[in-house]
Amino acid sequence: MKARIVRRQDVLKIADLLRQQGYEVIAPFRGRGRDTFFDTVTDGNRDQIQIHLPNPYYPPKRYVFPQIEPLLKIERRNGDLQIAPIYDVRRRAIFGIRSCDVAGIYHLDRFYLGREYPDIYYQNHRKNLFLVNVACTDPELDIGEECFCMCTDTGPAARDHFDLQLFDLQQAGLGDEFMAVAGTPAGEALFASPIFGKGSPQHAARRRGILEQVRKLFKPSTTSWFSAAIQAVSRGEVTDETWEQIGNRCLECGGCTYVCPACTCFTVTDRPVEAGVERLRIWDSCALGGFTRMAGGFNPRRAVHDRRNRRFFRKLAHYFIQRELSMACVGCGRCAAVCHGDIGMPSVVEMIRHAALRGKEA
Ligand code: SF4
Ligand code: SF4
Repeated sequence: MKARIVRRQDVLKIADLLRQQGYEVIAPFRGRGRDTFFDTVTDGNRDQIQIHLPNPYYPPKRYVFPQIEPLLKIERRNGDLQIAPIYDVRRRAIFGIRSCDVAGIYHLDRFYLGREYPDIYYQNHRKNLFLVNVACTDPELDIGEECFCMCTDTGPAARDHFDLQLFDLQQAGLGDEFMAVAGTPAGEALFASPIFGKGSPQHAARRRGILEQVRKLFKPSTTSWFSAAIQAVSRGEVTDETWEQIGNRCLECGGCTYVCPACTCFTVTDRPVEAGVERLRIWDSCALGGFTRMAGGFNPRRAVHDRRNRRFFRKLAHYFIQRELSMACVGCGRCAAVCHGDIGMPSVVEMIRHAALRGKEA
């Protein structure tokens, strides 16, 4: 991978370059309090783009897998039915996407494009997407209490699946440069701009040193036991009693799935529009009762814990990891931050590990 150096004062010019190339550029901004969000960059807000900030809860996966996506328009004209697909082929660049969310999009790639029949709607978004990853290096702003990308091997600096990666070389207030690493030919093409200069072995050494320090900042959380949970779930060692304990704490709000950058489930519905009907794809959640309800009303997973175990089986079982060559949990910690019942991924991993240990000790 080719690397260059860019000065801090020039970093936002990368967003300008992408806008000049015709991309709608999406970047992170600050709202009130802890609130942070991704939004389209305009001339008016360009200077407010944040390089370091707590990762927005609403994940950027919506730019490849929108929460509500029109699929088809169905109209009756002169007695005939006309069915027209609705494709969104906007060129978009996400500037400042975190490493966990890059891994989340890669997981969606595997799910929607990795098998015999690629999803054409997802494909249209994805082929027009450019990713500028910012490695998480700021201990105060980037690395949250709940982050555990170290355990899922997805951060704090992504190794692949981005077009360009920016790594802040500031250490102890010194250094006013970023290292830019190209992950694709499209990323490397940006290096033609004069804002990028050649790096030195000292720059590479500083990057390694900062990364080593940053890795020590992650709390040795319960997610250190991730592999124990994967083994217990994959071997079917988690008892109904444990799933019930987990399910009893779920309020069925769906928050964990809506914030998850690696959740893929959706439902399809129609809504009336002028002169016809529009078919939509909408995010769905295994936390919700209607997710598994069949026509006629029968629900094979009526109990909450039957749906909760589905979520964690999907994310932790060896079968899915083998099928998709990518895990459906990327360690972003969002589900831990939003869950009212404290059954985000780290807590569940710990509950499963404890239960599996108890079973072995008994
Ligand atoms: S966020 Fe927590 S309470 Fe809400 S659906 Fe998910 S597991 Fe249940
Ligand atoms: S399961 Fe939780 S921690 Fe894992 S990717 Fe989804 S929201 Fe993030």
